[in-house]
Amino acid sequence: MLLNGNGMSTTNDNCLSFGVLKAGLISIQRYPEVVPVQRQTKQMQAIRDAFVHAGRPLSIDELHDLAAKDITSLGQRTVYRAVRKLEDAGDIVSVPVPGSADRYELASAASTHHHHFHCTGCDRYFDIHGCPGGLNKLVPEGFQLEHHDLTLSGLCASCA
Ligand SMILES: [Zn+2]
Ligand SMILES: [Zn+2]
Repeated sequence: MLLNGNGMSTTNDNCLSFGVLKAGLISIQRYPEVVPVQRQTKQMQAIRDAFVHAGRPLSIDELHDLAAKDITSLGQRTVYRAVRKLEDAGDIVSVPVPGSADRYELASAASTHHHHFHCTGCDRYFDIHGCPGGLNKLVPEGFQLEHHDLTLSGLCASCA
C-alpha cells in the first residue's frame, strides 16, 4: 500500500482507513465497527443458496422472498445489488423474459443447453431438460442457424 505525506492510504477504497502510524513501519488498518463486507458475504451466500434450493430461474422478487427467510432484514434493493454483483462476477446470468421481470439462473446451470417452461398461473419459470433439436429444417434456404431460445408456457403441476 502506498502512503502519502499524511500517512493516509492513497487507495480510495470503501473502508475507512485510519490509525496508520506516521513512521510507516507498522501500519494498522481499522475498519468501522459494523463490518459491511461480512454482512454482504452473508447476503450473497443467502442468494446463492436460494438458487441452489429452488433449482430454477428466479426473479428479484422471488430471490427476495427466499433469501429473506434466512436474513429477515434483507431489503429488495440489497437483493438487487447482490444480483448485480453476482452477475458481474459471472456466477449468475440473466434469463430475459419478454414483457416481464428478468429471471436469473446460476451460470453453472446456464452452461448446459436447456430450455424453460413458464407457468402462466404462478408466473414461475422452470428448467426443461431436453431439446427438440432438428431446428435447422425450419430455417429458410441459405440461412445459417446459430442459436435458439425456446420457452414453453402453460400451467405447472401446482397450478394445473
Ligand atoms: Zn404455476
Ligand atoms: Zn435447445
